[in-house]
Amino acid sequence: MALDKFKLIYKKIKKYDTIVIARHVGPDPDAVTSEIALRDSIRLTFPEKKVLAVGASISKFKYFGVLDKQEYDKIKDPLLIILDVPTLDRVDGIENLSYKELIKIDHHPCEKKQADLEIVDDVSSSTCQLIAELLFKTQLKMDQNIANNLFLGIVSDSDRFLLSYTTAKTFQIVSRLIQEYHLNFSHLYTQLYERPINEIRFHGYLAEHLNLTENGLAYIKITPEVLKEYNVDNGTPSNMINDFNYIKEVLVWIFVTLDEKNSIFKVNIRSRGPIINETAEKYNGGGHKFASGARCKTMEEIDDLLKELDKICKYYKESQI
Ligand code: AMP
Repeated sequence: MALDKFKLIYKKIKKYDTIVIARHVGPDPDAVTSEIALRDSIRLTFPEKKVLAVGASISKFKYFGVLDKQEYDKIKDPLLIILDVPTLDRVDGIENLSYKELIKIDHHPCEKKQADLEIVDDVSSSTCQLIAELLFKTQLKMDQNIANNLFLGIVSDSDRFLLSYTTAKTFQIVSRLIQEYHLNFSHLYTQLYERPINEIRFHGYLAEHLNLTENGLAYIKITPEVLKEYNVDNGTPSNMINDFNYIKEVLVWIFVTLDEKNSIFKVNIRSRGPIINETAEKYNGGGHKFASGARCKTMEEIDDLLKELDKICKYYKESQI
């Protein structure tokens, strides 16, 4: 990744009095921690600037920091920075915002250029890794709170350094965060991983009811009744999908959850071999090669998606012989 892009981004940040930072809809910890960390760093470096981190507030992520109200009538011609999102149509909370310039920092694969200035590194473990690089390579300041958030984003999106985009660079950055900002990571892990017992029981339900095809596709359709029975919300399956990695018989695994409010099926897809994002894109989705999501309107569409992914597993298995 060229150093000058980080410097150019710093220059733009320096130039603007008002900056809005946004991320993708249905955020995960990397999306939220990256926007809060960048906002807090800009505020720390340039206290006179107005900097907002926007998007729907998620109560279980409140410990990362508080998001800002989208009072766009009070700001004029801001710089918009979008994080952890490849395309503008998936950015949360900018519907009524008119901005002057756009910057994107992301680690999703994307062919289409979206912004005037972009850092897209699809082999970075996380967006937080890129934000940490930005802070380390420019005069943007960091403190322990910012370092905590960057650490949590990297740990979460790399699944505790388990996923393939974890590199020597990831460890170098994390090592600097820990050393220079004295992180108490056992405390941070508690924040990230502590669960109420009903969620653990729900996890057991998922394991018990996972369907498995002979080609190595595992899937489960989670009904609103089951969510109610275990007293979990429809975002909970997304937090558990990575736990089903390394099952010997499983190549691709899928959770389908009905989002009753929006009358849509949310699909989480993970793989430990076959490439899944190209298929996800056909079903109103996308993401990384081995971690994708989709949105389907009907059960027929879901069944088509499952069939397609099952075929991909079959071809993959055959190609490995
Ligand atoms: P999830 O299963 O929701 O954790 O998402 C896995 C990855 O796929 C993340 O990088 C998401 O940003 C991406 N993703 C999820 N849903 C969609 C979608 N409908 N369209 C594009 N990308 C998505």
